Amino acid sequence: MLRSVVIVGGGTAGWMSAAYLKAAFADRIEVTVVESPRVSTIGVGEATFSTVQQFFDYLGLRESDWMPRCNATYKLGIRFENWRAKGHHFYHPFERLRVVDGFPLSDWWLHEPASDRFDKDVFLVSSLADAKKSPRFLDHRLFEPELDLESGGRMYRTTLSEQSTQFPYAYHFDAALLADFLTEYGTDRGVHHVVDHVEEVVLDDRGWISHVRTREHGDVRGDLFLDCTGFRGLLLGKALGEPFESYQDTLPNDSAVALRVPVDVETKGLRPCTTATAMDAGWIWTIPLFDRIGTGYVYASDYCSPEDAERALREFVGPEADGLEANHIRMRIGRSRDSWVNNCVAVGLSSGFVEPLESTGIFFIQNNIENLVKHFPDQRWSPQLRTSFNRAVNHAMDGVREFLVLHYRAAARADNEYWRDAKTRVIPDGLGERLEQWRTKLPDAESIYPHYHGFEAYSYVSMLMGLGGIPLAAPPALAHMDDTSAREEMRLIQHQAKDLVGRLPSQYEYFAQSH
Ligand code: FAD
Repeated sequence: MLRSVVIVGGGTAGWMSAAYLKAAFADRIEVTVVESPRVSTIGVGEATFSTVQQFFDYLGLRESDWMPRCNATYKLGIRFENWRAKGHHFYHPFERLRVVDGFPLSDWWLHEPASDRFDKDVFLVSSLADAKKSPRFLDHRLFEPELDLESGGRMYRTTLSEQSTQFPYAYHFDAALLADFLTEYGTDRGVHHVVDHVEEVVLDDRGWISHVRTREHGDVRGDLFLDCTGFRGLLLGKALGEPFESYQDTLPNDSAVALRVPVDVETKGLRPCTTATAMDAGWIWTIPLFDRIGTGYVYASDYCSPEDAERALREFVGPEADGLEANHIRMRIGRSRDSWVNNCVAVGLSSGFVEPLESTGIFFIQNNIENLVKHFPDQRWSPQLRTSFNRAVNHAMDGVREFLVLHYRAAARADNEYWRDAKTRVIPDGLGERLEQWRTKLPDAESIYPHYHGFEAYSYVSMLMGLGGIPLAAPPALAHMDDTSAREEMRLIQHQAKDLVGRLPSQYEYFAQSH
């Protein structure tokens, strides 16, 4: 039996891992987190993906336990601004497409558009986001009660592999406050917390990690080591020499500059979505928290200098950015060839990272740690468990890479070199063929990247329809079919949206009551 896990790094990855391992194994496994007082955490990473529901559920946490402490808000999806053309926006919501007579509404819409707003005609949630609504009523009922993980007396916890439904929202939160919350959660459940700098990673004769040497606490030994040291990759990359496979050829954005902007949410309101605004050399994220906005410009250093990026970001934010300190970040885009080597597993930025356009950093952490629990080794260290883990983790990142490349390839915007180059740049193997297929038949489960990567066909459809740069066609069969039911369903969506917009509180109102 393995008895002990040593986690090096106390950022979001380190503490999410520690909390999850305790939730899974309780005291049957000893967990230690070694966190340097000298190396700060990345300090960004505040928008999530809807699957994060399963993470909190697994930890046994309800929203009221952690959301107010982390200034958290709801995220119904992503609002893409200026990707098709300046002034245009559309949503990529967390909502599956309804199917009428065997064809998703997107096919019917292509056959005969109900209006010029695809996202509002076929997705209910887009209207809620436009109206800045909370997905919950003031008495905490979810607008789609049957999806609520918090209601009902389930006897089991869910993980990423049981996604029979699409939960309608994710969260925004203050990353530093969440790390504090998870530190408390972990230490309350017995995680040993060592605040010290790891000076050396010591290998045994086989090249496995025997211990890490800290500056003041001596050697810390364990059976399994988690590398949560961020872009440094101190254990997996530096000590074990696992190569890093860059995605830079297909995803050129390699830098970011971020600001934390205090805002008066009472007067400004709280948009229940992340906004991604296309810029001259990348895009700007806007993440509304209860007390401030997190914002940052993700850009390609081949097209834009850090000074120009910071200037553009400050201009975008306006006078509220005056006097605020900007955080410049160099991003390592790609993944480790394998994230599990010998007795070391990387989780978080040390494992891999793609630009945060679809907020997948925390999803990758969740995916790695859930897979680690599912593949947890014993003293035999079965290579099959390791291989199976690496396959799942690599597929997830490679799949998300494809989805992100699609955002640039399919964006109609082509008004400067950066956006024009996006149309001719090399793309991952397989995506070219898929794109050809999607021109005549919208993405479905059979035609998207074939392994689990968090995204379903409806996400690809939302992006292709919203980005507008690739001509798409309705299935010819629809020309021979009666479209009455499809038109009726689209009318029903409008009716349901209007009713909910009238009854749901604003997101500000909802959270003001718990603050
Ligand atoms: P870090 O936060 O860098 O933590 C590293 C830890 O390792 C620190 O505790 C440090 O002290 C420790 N450490 C380092 N060296 C040593 C040493 N020698 N000894 C001991 N300890 C050491 N993800 C999302 O899901 N949504 C987003 O919206 C999002 N936006 C992002 C925007 C940007 C610009 C970037 C770069 C990332 C974003 N991410 C996002 C990703 C997200 O920030 C990370 O996945 C997440 O914060 C995890 O980081 P980490 O814990 O791996 O690394």
